[in-house]
Amino acid sequence: MPFFKMNKQLIFAGLMIAFIINHGYSQTILNKQNIENALNDAFNKFKDLKEGKNADYIKELANVDPNIFGIALVTADGAVYTKGDITSMVSIQSISKVFTMAKVIEQEGSQFLQDKIGVNATGLPFNSIVAVEMHKGDKINPLVNPGAIATTSLIRGNDSIAKWKEIQKIQSDFAGRQLSINRPVYISEASDNLRNQAIAHLLLAYNRIYFDPVQATDLYTKQCALNVNVKDLAIMAATLANGGVNPVTKNKVVSQTTVMYTLPVMATAGLYDNSGIWLFNSGLPAKSGVGGGMLAICPGKFGIAVISPPLDESGNSLKAQKVIQYVVEKLKVNPYWIEPK
Ligand code: GLU
Repeated sequence: MPFFKMNKQLIFAGLMIAFIINHGYSQTILNKQNIENALNDAFNKFKDLKEGKNADYIKELANVDPNIFGIALVTADGAVYTKGDITSMVSIQSISKVFTMAKVIEQEGSQFLQDKIGVNATGLPFNSIVAVEMHKGDKINPLVNPGAIATTSLIRGNDSIAKWKEIQKIQSDFAGRQLSINRPVYISEASDNLRNQAIAHLLLAYNRIYFDPVQATDLYTKQCALNVNVKDLAIMAATLANGGVNPVTKNKVVSQTTVMYTLPVMATAGLYDNSGIWLFNSGLPAKSGVGGGMLAICPGKFGIAVISPPLDESGNSLKAQKVIQYVVEKLKVNPYWIEPK
C-alpha cells in the first residue's frame, strides 16, 4: 500500500477515535430519525395507560375528553415533530405562569422578582394558603397560585384591560400565534375561584400583591383559560430552549438573561410538590397545568410538550410525565448525563 494512502487511513482512524472520545459514541444524535422514533415509541408505549383523573375542582375541566393524547417536539432551529392528537385544545392553566413570570423578569429584572415575589419552592400544594401564612406573604413562588396571582399583578398597565393585553401578548408571542380564551373554562373557574380570591386578599393583608386583588385574580384566571394545542406548548417551550427567540416565527420574545432566570424556577417548582421527583428523574426544567398539558425544556436543543388530561395526585398529567421522561432517556438529553473525557 502506498505510504500516502496508508497515511490517509491512519489519519481517518485517528480522527474517528478522537471523535468517539470527545463525543461519546453512545450519545444519541438529535436527527429526524431518532426524534421520530423516540416520539413514536413513547406514543405506542403509553397510549393505553388509563391511570389518573381529570381535574374536577374546575367543573368544566371534568368534561374534557380524557383520551386526548398528543406529543410535540420543536427543536431550537424550528423543526416541528408531532405524534397523535395535535388539534385538540385544552386550557393552558398553570403553564401560563411561566410566561407571565418571564415577562416580569424581562421588564423589571430578576432581582425585582426575587424581592417582590420570591423564588424558593414552597414544597406545598399549588393552591396552599398555609404557604402564604407561613411566611407572611413573603417568599411565595411565581409558579404556584399565590406567587402567580401576585406576579400577574406586577404586569405593567394602568388598568385591567391594559394588563390583560400585555399578558395575552406575551403568551401569544411565545406560542407564535394569537391565543384566545376558552370561555366555558374561564366562566366555570371565575364563578368558583373563592380560594384564589382568598389567597389574593391574604396577600393584600401582607402587602404582597400589587394591584386590586379581585382584578388580579380575574386576570390570572383569564390567563389560565387560554386555549392551546400541543404544538403551541412545544413552540412555547422551544422559545425558552432557544434563548428567548421563537424558533418558528424567528421573533425575539425575551432576552437570554430572562430565560436564564426563568428555567431554574421551572426546575425547582414546575411540577408542584412533585418538582424534586421530576427533576431527579428527568433533569429538565418543566411546567405542568391542571388542564392536562405539560412542557419541558432541553436547553439549546428542543422544547417538548404533551397533552393528556388525566392527572396524578399533585396535579400533573400522568402520561405527559411518562412520555417526556421516556423521550429524555431515549435521546439521552438529561443535562446531568455526562460523558467522561
Ligand atoms: N387556574 C388553576 C387554579 O388556579 C390553575 C392551577 C394549575 O394548573 O395548577 O387553580
